[in-house]
Amino acid sequence: MDGVSKSFGGNRALDGVSFRAEPGRVTALIGPNGSGKTTLLNMVCGFYRIDSGRVLLDDARLHGSASHRVARAGVARTFQTPGVPDGVTVLEAVAAGRYSADRASVPSAVLRLPRFRRVRRADTAEAERMLALVGMAELRDEPASSLPLGMRRLLEVARSLVASPGVLLLDEAASGLDEDEVERLAELIRRIRRAGGTVVLVEHNFRLVLDLADDIVVLAHGQVIAHGPPAEIETNPRVLGEYLGATEEVS
Ligand code: ADP
Ligand code: MG
Repeated sequence: MDGVSKSFGGNRALDGVSFRAEPGRVTALIGPNGSGKTTLLNMVCGFYRIDSGRVLLDDARLHGSASHRVARAGVARTFQTPGVPDGVTVLEAVAAGRYSADRASVPSAVLRLPRFRRVRRADTAEAERMLALVGMAELRDEPASSLPLGMRRLLEVARSLVASPGVLLLDEAASGLDEDEVERLAELIRRIRRAGGTVVLVEHNFRLVLDLADDIVVLAHGQVIAHGPPAEIETNPRVLGEYLGATEEVS
């Protein structure tokens, strides 16, 4: 993205933000609460209109596109507050991630044409695979809404992965996870990276960031105050002052 700005009323949430997230790399986005991290993901996803600047995927522009188009272009995300639908099983909730990527058109879905049923079977198989990857295979028939927070987050990650996204945006996916779940998430992220995916990781757990990230972008007050590899960011005095000094939850 290039020079992206966004204001809410008089509040400048993003102020000329530029950075590039590369395929096959994990780009971590860190910064204190309110620094604009979630807003930035929302700009990429097409949830908010940008005031100025550009968001590009390869060379195609994403800004100005509706969110379903951005999803179809291969960008998936998870939310800071995982939304799990009522009345569906874990497996159905994960399989639902496929529909936005969409092979069966809406009319064929409504009419339940054979093509749709074929896609449904493929969806289910893929959803099962992703559930196994996040270590939740045995929970497939449980009601999704009964899951504790950590597992709801992992479910969201699994759901975003069934769409085989080229770009995955994770908004504090590790918060609320226990140590074992964090390790599963980390392994999944490494796997996506190995497969050549582009991962943008918004994360408060600084140790996890240092462990996983290839590049770190540090936001403060809607501006990029540092950008570089972990070894550089870890020792950057401005980052230590602005970010690490400002939060207690970095361990
Ligand atoms: P972070 O995710 O880094 O904690 P956010 O992107 O959520 O930060 O918020 C950045 C700033 O933008 C904050 O000042 C927040 O209050 C404001 N903001 C975010 N979303 C909205 C919105 N939908 N309406 C008004 N203000 C918003
Ligand atoms: Mg946020």
